[in-house]
Amino acid sequence: MMELLRRKALELGAFRAEVLDVSRVSLDASFRSLCESNACGNYGRNYMCPPDAGGIEELMEEIRSYDRLMVYQTVGELEDSYDFEGMMEAGKRHNELAQKLRVFARGLCEERPGCPESPTACPESATACPEEPAGVNFLHLGAGGCRVCPVCAKVTGEPCRHPDLAMRSLETYGINVSLLAQEAGMRYINGQNTVTYFGAIFARGGRIQESEKTALTAEGSGAERAETKENGEENR
Ligand code: SF4
Repeated sequence: MMELLRRKALELGAFRAEVLDVSRVSLDASFRSLCESNACGNYGRNYMCPPDAGGIEELMEEIRSYDRLMVYQTVGELEDSYDFEGMMEAGKRHNELAQKLRVFARGLCEERPGCPESPTACPESATACPEEPAGVNFLHLGAGGCRVCPVCAKVTGEPCRHPDLAMRSLETYGINVSLLAQEAGMRYINGQNTVTYFGAIFARGGRIQESEKTALTAEGSGAERAETKENGEENR
């Protein structure tokens, strides 16, 4: 299943995508103080960001409850390092890819034994499958604050307009994205005048093939794939 997600991410335009065991994710509660400094302007102004997103310890505990993840990155070209519009445009494209991946992940409903809903009729968001723990359960995290609406309903004092599409960030959960990139054999920065965004789909439950388990826990699997790719032996 995770390999299917990885391939789909690449097909949708991700620069790199890898599957890892969740034990390889570094969590650090101190990331919350960065959010609290409000350098991005989203603190208290987006339902998917702190403090509304939840306490850091609870969110890190939630990450530990998953088995594995598919981490992906997108890379956008910039005119120069001050190209704010280019960064916004790349962020928008990253979010569009993330939303398409969400639909695809929901379509993997054959992993939910006994689920009465067809993939397209399922009324639940992919993060709230009623079949858990019998079936697979996903948590999809993106980059930065939720970008679904131009202005988050938090700012205007309304309820979230699209709870089925809203997405929290990796940083909100205390995930060290730089170390995650290393574990996956990816570059955190992909060259001058580019911007790189990360996303990840965490999964638990469902059927995990023995071969998949072995591959996920094999140290350096992502790095080895990166080396092969950079040698031109594998296309994305
Ligand atoms: S979907 Fe819209 S209202 Fe809901 S958290 Fe995201 S930006 Fe805010």
